Amino acid sequence: MKKLELKVSDYPELAISWETTLVNKTGTWRTFYPQYVEKTPPCNYYCPANEPVQKYLALTLKGKFEEAYLTILEKNPFPAITGRVCYHPCETGCNRGNFDESVAIHAVERFLGDYGLNFVEPKRKVEKLKSDKKVAIIGSGPSGLSCAYYLLKNGIGVTIFERESFAGGILAYGIPNYRLPKEIVKKEIEKILKMGAKFIFEKELGKDFSLNDLEKEYDALFLAIGAQVEQELGIPNEDAKGVFLGLNFLKAVNLKRKLQYFGKNVLVIGGGNTAIDCARVALRKGAKVKIIYRRTKEEMPAVKEEVEEAIKEGIEIIFLTAPVKIIKDKKGKVKGLECIKMKLSEEVDESGRRKPLPIKNSNFIIKGDTIIKAIGEQVAVDILPKEIIGKRGILADEWGKTNLEKIFAGGDCVTGPKTVVEAIAYGRKAAFLILHYLKNYELPKKDVFNLVNYENLNTYYFEKEKRVEEDKLPVNKRKGNFKEIVSTLNNHEAQAEASRCFSCGVCNNCDNCYVFCPDLAILKKNGSYEILYDYCKGCGVCAHECPRNVISMFFEGEK
Ligand SMILES: Cc1cc2nc3c(=O)[nH]c(=O)nc-3n(C[C@H](O)[C@H](O)[C@H](O)COP(=O)(O)OP(=O)(O)OC[C@H]3O[C@@H](n4cnc5c(N)ncnc54)[C@H](O)[C@@H]3O)c2cc1C
Ligand code: SF4
Ligand code: SF4
Ligand code: SF4
Repeated sequence: MKKLELKVSDYPELAISWETTLVNKTGTWRTFYPQYVEKTPPCNYYCPANEPVQKYLALTLKGKFEEAYLTILEKNPFPAITGRVCYHPCETGCNRGNFDESVAIHAVERFLGDYGLNFVEPKRKVEKLKSDKKVAIIGSGPSGLSCAYYLLKNGIGVTIFERESFAGGILAYGIPNYRLPKEIVKKEIEKILKMGAKFIFEKELGKDFSLNDLEKEYDALFLAIGAQVEQELGIPNEDAKGVFLGLNFLKAVNLKRKLQYFGKNVLVIGGGNTAIDCARVALRKGAKVKIIYRRTKEEMPAVKEEVEEAIKEGIEIIFLTAPVKIIKDKKGKVKGLECIKMKLSEEVDESGRRKPLPIKNSNFIIKGDTIIKAIGEQVAVDILPKEIIGKRGILADEWGKTNLEKIFAGGDCVTGPKTVVEAIAYGRKAAFLILHYLKNYELPKKDVFNLVNYENLNTYYFEKEKRVEEDKLPVNKRKGNFKEIVSTLNNHEAQAEASRCFSCGVCNNCDNCYVFCPDLAILKKNGSYEILYDYCKGCGVCAHECPRNVISMFFEGEK
């Protein structure tokens, strides 16, 4: 075949510009235009305190642990506590969960919380408070402490009234040491003390003082008394020796009080977190433990992980069984529990779960010498003015405003039994409402949530990475002691886990847009990017290639 030979003169003439092509403003061809719009990662949204999770993970990755710790404190003053006991709904919402496994946010939070307590707090200087206003807080659980923290931080003096002889509420005497060591609670509370909080212990609202007494002396009151009135079973012989109420039992063990009539065969009644804690504590005290629950495992309100740990440790759960009568011996001591078998009906109750119904003539006896009742807690409404009592406890709006002037409320006493982080979030919000009330502070703007879903991400750029797991004390080493089960990650592990974060909706300068724009219409400027709209043709490649959905496309003329 003849070879085709082309000479330069065979080519058509081309117009070559010896000047810059910037005069060709190709942006006029555009129908759509791109814009950088940062959005909300689901982790921030699903955290009840709306912690800036993505931000502190990014700082952790860079080794900026102090900054990351201080970032959490903007929304939650006690990350060493929540990192240990929060049920981490942030992780349920984490987009990475759809890719391989969600980021272990709680573990990084815990690492940062411990880092803060060990390295940041000891060197932090706190200015002496000069406040013309003072607030009384009643109850020193997470809600009261969180409210105190944000008030003090904004220059308001606080006095915390507490019926016990120590602070912390359920953190101090409910949650067992193996999940939350008391030194951690103490250290977190020291932060508040250092900031100038005054505690008045062994003073109980309704007994030692009234709201009226405090109103005379303080500019505002914050009620944070929790939900701690324990429900009775309503069956015969509840007064037998060896019958305990769940929270009372946990309190006695946490405070190392002597337990009279505590035996070796313990029956715990209930299916919530208190029941699981009671069972695991009883096991550590050397007992054989059975939990009696009237529904099935699926309906248990306790957190799944806790239930699984309890089973691993050797606790037996008897499902679809309800107590009918406590059996006692001649000396009035527990010797067993008469129970009845249950079945789930088609009818659904107000909790949304199928109603359990007793099966006729199915009574049977379970032997045991100790019974712990853990079927729920309520708010002590009888010590409160009737104007502020609602269905679940105290009637207050989402910022803690009640129907009474000067009186605010938050945490479990408003919501009914919930979680530590929800109580913390409520305390913070109420602090800002009190600041607004006393000092006309502007309320923080409501967070705007423009959520990034998994489908919005371009996961082509991510690789599968195993989630870093915290070390756990082996099951055979847990009996007979209250050693903490879970360990804190080290610096490298925390950074490795933070590196798994996709940074959903937040630009992390990956340069994809800059590299892929076919028109070179993206400039790097001062550590971020600028779109040159005179040249952008609106092809959408940048938005498509952005792994984290930070660029959105809009119709020309649309904002
Ligand atoms: C056994 C148990 C385990 C739990 N485990 C977890 C967990 O792992 N993770 C989680 O997120 N949540 C957990 N929770 C729930 C969580 O502890 C609560 O939601 C949270 O403590 C509520 O905080 P609060 O500040 O509203 O109330 P509380 O923590 O109940 O604090 C109320 C405070 O007010 C004081 N007080 C009460 N009445 C008076 C009065 N009349 N006068 C003066 N002071 C008063 C109390 O002594 C207490 O210090 C658990 C609850 C229980 C019972
Ligand atoms: S407080 Fe709980 S929900 Fe919020 S980020 Fe921490 S672990 Fe997640
Ligand atoms: S991948 Fe990161 S930013 Fe995205 S939801 Fe999970 S923790 Fe949040
Ligand atoms: S890739 Fe370049 S030309 Fe295309 S929309 Fe983005 S900025 Fe405009």
